[in-house]
Amino acid sequence: MISLLGKVALVTGGSRGIGAAVAVMMAKAGATVALTYGKSKHDAVRTAHRVARCGSECLIIRANVARSGDVRKAVRILLDHFGRIDILVNNAGIWKRGAIGTMTEQQWDETLDVNLKGTFLFCNAVVPVMKKQKAGKIINIASTAGQRGEPFYSHYAASKGGMIAFTKAIAAELAPQGIIANCVSPGWVYTDMTSRDLDDRRQIGQINKSIPRGRVATPEEIAGPVVFLASDLANHIVGAVINVNGGSVLFG
Ligand code: NAP
Repeated sequence: MISLLGKVALVTGGSRGIGAAVAVMMAKAGATVALTYGKSKHDAVRTAHRVARCGSECLIIRANVARSGDVRKAVRILLDHFGRIDILVNNAGIWKRGAIGTMTEQQWDETLDVNLKGTFLFCNAVVPVMKKQKAGKIINIASTAGQRGEPFYSHYAASKGGMIAFTKAIAAELAPQGIIANCVSPGWVYTDMTSRDLDDRRQIGQINKSIPRGRVATPEEIAGPVVFLASDLANHIVGAVINVNGGSVLFG
């Protein structure tokens, strides 16, 4: 039923974790995929091979999402190669601990630049193309932290709350032109980002207890709702925040 056949998708931070799962699942649904990475070329190449095994061409592009020059170049490379972009998934992100009162300006800026400004930069570069096509899907990967806050991660929470508000704003702005924007908001997911906490036996016990489904998500369990939103089955969902957290944080 779900088909992305003929669609071109760009997944930022598609080298590892949730982004890699999205790239592979989109390819399984028939999309042609481009993924960006920052530093992890080895992971990007490995994910590209996984995508290729699903029968899809896969372009990998190095781009620091916080740098406008890198972002513009990445979109240009994608357009030179595929000629169009139907789906943009803003997934690249960082999650670094920082207590308010001692957090440096540099720590604050880094998180806001990658998570929030990176999302803005990619949307800003891609929307003119989608406007010409009169169609497009934008899916931004937020977090429960952006909905309820997260102690010791105020910069991260602010970046993700900002992403949610940004998504709602552009969703209303762009829907009349056929461009649909939504958020997927994960709770705990087992990836490189969280493995240090989730591999700690005491912490994982407490975390699992806080999740009605009793465990953290796999990257594929986040990728599924992303692929759904990217598909025509979700065309009338606009500006939504899809919670994918096993029931741990109930909004909406
Ligand atoms: P991950 O395994 O650490 O992967 C992060 C990805 O983002 C990598 O591909 C990384 O590429 C890329 N990235 C980071 N900084 C970048 C930069 N400056 N420029 C370009 N790419 C950059 O993280 P994940 O768990 O899959 O997280 C993916 C998204 O889900 C993030 O936005 C995160 O905030 C969100 N999320 C995750 C969880 C969770 O529990 N894991 C929960 C809620 C929300 P390089 O290594 O090449 O830089």
